[in-house]
Amino acid sequence: MDHFAYRDGHLFAEDVAVSEIANAVGTPFYCYSRATLCRHYDVFAAAFEGHDALVAYAVKANSSVAVIRALARRGAGAALVSGGELRRALAAGVAGSRMVFSGVGKTREEMGLALDAGILQFNVESEPELRALSEVATARGVEAPVAIRINPDVDAKVHRKITTGLRENKFGIEWTAAPEIYARAAALPGLKVVGMSVHIGSQLLDLEPFRQAFAKMRDMVFRLRADGHRIDIVDVGGGLGIPYDDLPSPAPEAYARTVLDALGDLGCRLVLEPGRMIAGNAGILVARLLYRKEGAVRTFYVVDAAMNDLLRPSLYDAYHHILPCRRPAPGVGNIEVDVVGPVCETGDTLARQRNLPPMAEGELLAVRTAGAYCAVMASAYNSRPLVPEVLVSGDRWHLARRRLTAVDLLDLESVPDWPDGDDRA
Ligand SMILES: *Cc1c(COP(=O)(O)O)cnc(C)c1O
Repeated sequence: MDHFAYRDGHLFAEDVAVSEIANAVGTPFYCYSRATLCRHYDVFAAAFEGHDALVAYAVKANSSVAVIRALARRGAGAALVSGGELRRALAAGVAGSRMVFSGVGKTREEMGLALDAGILQFNVESEPELRALSEVATARGVEAPVAIRINPDVDAKVHRKITTGLRENKFGIEWTAAPEIYARAAALPGLKVVGMSVHIGSQLLDLEPFRQAFAKMRDMVFRLRADGHRIDIVDVGGGLGIPYDDLPSPAPEAYARTVLDALGDLGCRLVLEPGRMIAGNAGILVARLLYRKEGAVRTFYVVDAAMNDLLRPSLYDAYHHILPCRRPAPGVGNIEVDVVGPVCETGDTLARQRNLPPMAEGELLAVRTAGAYCAVMASAYNSRPLVPEVLVSGDRWHLARRRLTAVDLLDLESVPDWPDGDDRA
C-alpha cells in the first residue's frame, strides 16, 4: 500500500498535488512519501515483535538523509556498505550501535570510521579483510565486533545482476570454509566474534531460497558454537521482493515466519536488513513530456527524465508502472508508446510498448516504485545534473536535495595550464 493516488483526477503524494511540487522544483524530480516509508517499516518491524530483532534499513536502497532520518525516528537502524553511507546514517541520527557494515571492499579508512562510530557489527567477507580489520582495530586499541558473511550457495532465482548467494558470486565466505575462517578470526587480535551474516540477493518473490539459506545458517550456528565461538547475532540480510508489476510478493509476516522458524529459538539477536521492501513503493519519479514523436513503427513519448536519472530499466530490464499525473477523462482510449529519455543511447528507454492515454506536450507523468535503487544509482551521464529529491508528509513537502546545475558540475573541474600544452603537435 502506498500514498500516491488520484484525487479529483490529479495525482497526489499524500495530501500534496504532484503538479504543485513540479511547479516549484521543476522536472524531473523524485518524490517520496513519508507515510508510506513509515508504514512499510512499521509492518515489517511488527512482524518481528516480541523477538530481539534490529531492523537495520539498507541505506543503499535510498540514502537520502531525510529518508534515513524518517525511518530512524521510527526505530530503524542502518545497514551500510560504504563509509559514505555511514556518514549519512550518522547525519540522520542513527546510533552507531544500530549499524551493521557489509561489503567485499571495505577500506581501512572506512573501517576506522565505523570503529569510531561504535557500530554493532562488521560483516566480514574475506580473510584478507579480517586481517586488515584486525590491524585497524589493534592500532586504535579497540575490539572490532565481527560476523562472517557466509555464502550459502543458494540460488535466489532473481535477475543475475542481483543474486549474491551463489558460490560463483563475489560475496561472503565459501560455506564449507566457514569453520576455518571463524577459527582464524578468533585467533586475531583486535577482533571479537559476535555473529554470522547472510544476504542471498534482492527482489526475491519466493520464500524458498530464504528457507534454504536460513536452514544452513542454523546448522552452522550449532557447528560454530560446538567449536567454542560465541554466536550472539544472526544477520539474515535483506532481499524481500516487492510488486513492480502485478505479481504478488510475499507478505512481511510470511517472511518473518520463515526467519523465525529457522532462527528464532537460537537465543540470538536477529538483524534484518530490508531495503527495497521499505523504500521501493514509497517513491515516484516525476517527469514532463517533451515531445510526442511519431517514429516509423512506434510512437515515442520523449520525456525529460532519462537512464541517468533512473537506470533500472536499462540495467535490469526492470518494469516500472507509468501513470499520467492528470487522469484521462473516462472513455479516452490508450495508445501504445515507448517512453524514452533524451540520452543518446537506445538503452535509454523507461518503458516499451506501454498503453498510455494520449498526452499533450508539457504534461506530467510519474514512474512508480521508484523509491529504491533509483535516485541512488543516478549519474550525470550526458552532463545531466542530478535531479532533486522531495519528501512529502501529509500536506507538507520538503526539498531534501536540491537540483544540481551544470555550473555545479563545471565547478568541480579545471584544465591544466602546462607550459608545453598538449594541444600543440
Ligand atoms: C543490498 C543489500 C541489502 C538490501 O537488499 P534489499 O533487496 O533492498 O532488501 C541488505 N543487505 C546487504 C548486505 C545488501 O548488500
